[in-house]
Amino acid sequence: MNAPDRSAAANPAEHYDVVVVGAGNAAMCAALAAHEGGARVLVLERAPEAEAGGNSRFTAGAIRFAYDGVDDLRALMPDLTDAEVEMTDFGTYTEEQFYADLCRISDYRCDPELADMLVTRSRDTLMWMASHGVRFAPIWGRQAFKVDGRFTFWGGLTVESVGGGEGLVESLRAALGRNQIDLWHEAAARSLLTDDSGAVRGVRARCSARVIDVECSAVVLAAGGFQANAEWRTRYLGPGWDLAKVRGTRFNTGDGIAMALDIGAMPYGNWSGAHAVAWDYNAPEFGDLAVGDGFQKHSYPFSIVLNQDGQRFVDEGADFRNYTYARYGREILAQPGHSAWQVFDASTDHLLRDEYRIRQVTKVTADSIEELCARMEDVHTERALATISEFNAAVDRSVGFDPNVLDGRRTRGLSPDKTNWAMPIETPPFTAFRVTCGLTFTFGGLRVDETGCVIDTDLRPIKGLYAAGELVGGLFYGNYPGGSGLSAGAVFGRLAGSSAAAHAAG
Ligand SMILES: Cc1cc2nc3c(=O)[nH]c(=O)nc-3n(C[C@H](O)[C@H](O)[C@H](O)COP(=O)(O)OP(=O)(O)OC[C@H]3O[C@@H](n4cnc5c(N)ncnc54)[C@H](O)[C@@H]3O)c2cc1C
Repeated sequence: MNAPDRSAAANPAEHYDVVVVGAGNAAMCAALAAHEGGARVLVLERAPEAEAGGNSRFTAGAIRFAYDGVDDLRALMPDLTDAEVEMTDFGTYTEEQFYADLCRISDYRCDPELADMLVTRSRDTLMWMASHGVRFAPIWGRQAFKVDGRFTFWGGLTVESVGGGEGLVESLRAALGRNQIDLWHEAAARSLLTDDSGAVRGVRARCSARVIDVECSAVVLAAGGFQANAEWRTRYLGPGWDLAKVRGTRFNTGDGIAMALDIGAMPYGNWSGAHAVAWDYNAPEFGDLAVGDGFQKHSYPFSIVLNQDGQRFVDEGADFRNYTYARYGREILAQPGHSAWQVFDASTDHLLRDEYRIRQVTKVTADSIEELCARMEDVHTERALATISEFNAAVDRSVGFDPNVLDGRRTRGLSPDKTNWAMPIETPPFTAFRVTCGLTFTFGGLRVDETGCVIDTDLRPIKGLYAAGELVGGLFYGNYPGGSGLSAGAVFGRLAGSSAAAHAAG
């Protein structure tokens, strides 16, 4: 991370055209776009440099976008070789497919205009990011299994940024540096300054030890959701959410949302909803950059998941992992002790993602099912044994197992049934991983119009105020298609930044 970092102490309050609040993916895309629009830009980052970059830095960099075939992928990733293309079925992920996924996964609640903007601008925005030095590569390791010598991508998620979230943030920071965009660390925006007409004219921020006012013509809020705020998540997500672990940054406490609501912005989207996943039971309270997303446990479609009563409680194979994982954290939180165990046998061991092999993992292994169940702490052993044996008996073994498709290999007569990838738990050694709820980000936020401008409670644009990223509501309801957070941040960040620059130019 070597972009120029000017500390607040060295910069007395002065006038900028555009102030961007936050330094994650959405914020840095906004800053670059505002700069391209001719604005003099300041980025305020609450975190110290060592922890800067928000949730974006914790990601794998997986990013969802629409493409019509391998030519679109080659345009984005010129390093793709003929041999790699030969051994891979990339399929397509058209705008229609992306739009349909957003609608289906949100139970047809997503704002159609926001969804349409995300979908139709996604490819062009990734190309634009590439023009600023962000490099992309196919996610062979996580989104495609090798079957009969060939990889097949599934679930509409095909590329990641090189170097994951760390690489993405580093590339964007470098782009800010190349463009001489000012970035202050340990600079926490606290409130918005408005004029008599209600238009936004600046930001009050706590910069290291003092509070300063930065005047500007437009502000872009990109300070993330409220997931790191235990009080807000209990208030809005509900009782018990104070006990969830936060997967990413400790700095996203809803400040950007609060500042906008204070001047009359309209709350929008799924305020009681959040993206939450299966996360190591003993993970720390907030994310750990050294581990990144490694505490997640996303190979559950090849397991059965038991609670402390020894019961299954979700259809582990309801859909591809990236269409179910974001809602299963909530299911785990609702279980006794906020705890569950993912139980695997040796037959699917080769399919387990890297995160199952990290050092900081809570697991037990045994050569017999009886021994395994006895070792799963806090779990009712006899009931767990009965559940596994009922599950094994209910698997339809006449259907072939194929991890690359919804294979329909299912159980019958269970509640709930497992409807794909049902493999009996019978081949030793057996392994179980203990998980709890890991909260990624909250879905509720601010309402923006087609220019990225924040809307007030009378449905009028607030002059000079723009927003992007996690703190924009209206896209995700109850669930989330994996990889959309980064694309939404980039698309709406770019939009908000260029609109803010145009507004500043008058
Ligand atoms: C472990 C993990 C893995 C993930 N994996 C993926 C993935 O692979 N693909 C994907 O698409 N999404 C993924 N996500 C979700 C993704 O991280 C978010 O959707 C996306 O990064 C949000 O970007 P953002 O710019 O809105 O917020 P952030 O990147 O969180 O940035 C918010 C910024 O605001 C700053 N800030 C907060 N308050 C203030 C304040 N008062 N003043 C100034 N600055 C402030 C923060 O410090 C931070 O810099 C993952 C999330 C986590 C936690």
